[in-house]
Formats: sequence, structure tokens, C-alpha cells
Amino acid sequence: MRISLFVTVTLLPLMLASQVYGHGDHHHNHDHSHAHEHSDHHSHTHDHHHADDHRHHGAHVHGLAHLDVIIAESQLMLSLQSPAMDIVGFEHQPGDAAQQAQLEQALSKLQQPDNVFKVNNGACSLQQLTVNNPFDTAGNHADHVDIQAEYLFDCAAASSISVIDVTLFKHFPDVSSINVQLVTDHDQQQLNLTPNHSRIRIAE
Ligand SMILES: [Zn+2]
Repeated sequence: MRISLFVTVTLLPLMLASQVYGHGDHHHNHDHSHAHEHSDHHSHTHDHHHADDHRHHGAHVHGLAHLDVIIAESQLMLSLQSPAMDIVGFEHQPGDAAQQAQLEQALSKLQQPDNVFKVNNGACSLQQLTVNNPFDTAGNHADHVDIQAEYLFDCAAASSISVIDVTLFKHFPDVSSINVQLVTDHDQQQLNLTPNHSRIRIAE
């Protein structure tokens, strides 16, 4: 059961993405220009691995995170993906003790769900929490590195969840925008959150 839930978390963004991009040129053009807008941030340091970036991190834009929220029966699953830059402050192997400490502090902050989101109702209890260390992979020479965190709750009253406030902005001020994909038994939304609009409202 646990495995199948995480398969769902992993596959759902792909399914949703194919829906989004399946509508044709409008969305494609929009995304292309959006990425271009922000490309100046990286161009001076990352040009030589441009192709690799796109293979592994097609939509990685500093400041922009992604959050998948799934409510299915009694389960609440949240899956966060963010550029490591905005969470850790760098995207390379820690170079000294200070950077190692900075990395560990960031990972431990993500291990407190309250630092990422707050759920208003539902009587949810945490079942599983996974925060990856993005620099664990040996020989990782990618220019851009994502950090991922997944939270799985069991909720006695999942259908009463009506608000999820995303608190990530407060604790990680470099995150300026979060694309959210929400799927419940009776609601499906894609929305963009910012520090001033950080509330997800779920249809009853
Ligand atoms: Zn990056």
C-alpha cells in the first residue's frame, strides 16, 4: 500500500503535465517564454551544461517550487520539489563545514511539516516523511539540483480538509512562487501561490 501511494505521487505530476501540455500551442508558447524570461539568472554559469539541465530539470527556475497535493480516501499526500538554491542556498556539494551545516539545517527544517504547510482540518497524523539530500548522489555534476520532500498523512476526517496554508514562504524566503497541483476525489486545481497568496482552498 505504501509503495502504491508513492507511485501515485510520482506519476500524478506526469499525468497532470501531459494534460496541461496536451492542449497545444498556447501552453507551449507560454512556458517557453516564461523559461526564457528567467534564463539570464543562469546563463553566465550554466551554458555549457544547458542540455543536461533540460533533460533532468526541464522547468527548474530559481524561486519557483512545485507542490503536488493529493487527497484520496483517508490519505493526504504532499510532494514538494524546489530548486536546492532556494532551500539550501547553493546547488553544489557542500564545500566546507559551514556549507555542510547550512545543508543539514535546511533538510531538518523540511522535516518539520509546519515549516512547509498547515492543514486546517481532517485530524491528520503523519505516516511517512521523506526529505532527500540532493547531494547524496555520487558523481553528481549537474548544474542545477532539485530538493524533494514528501509527506504522507492518514486523516480520520479527510473530507473536512478545506484549507491548506503553505508556510514554506515564511521559512524559506528565497521561494517566491509555488505551482500547486491539487487532486481530491471531487476537486482538481492548478494554482500559483505567492507569499501574499499562500492559501489553498479545497472545494467541499
Ligand atoms: Zn538551479
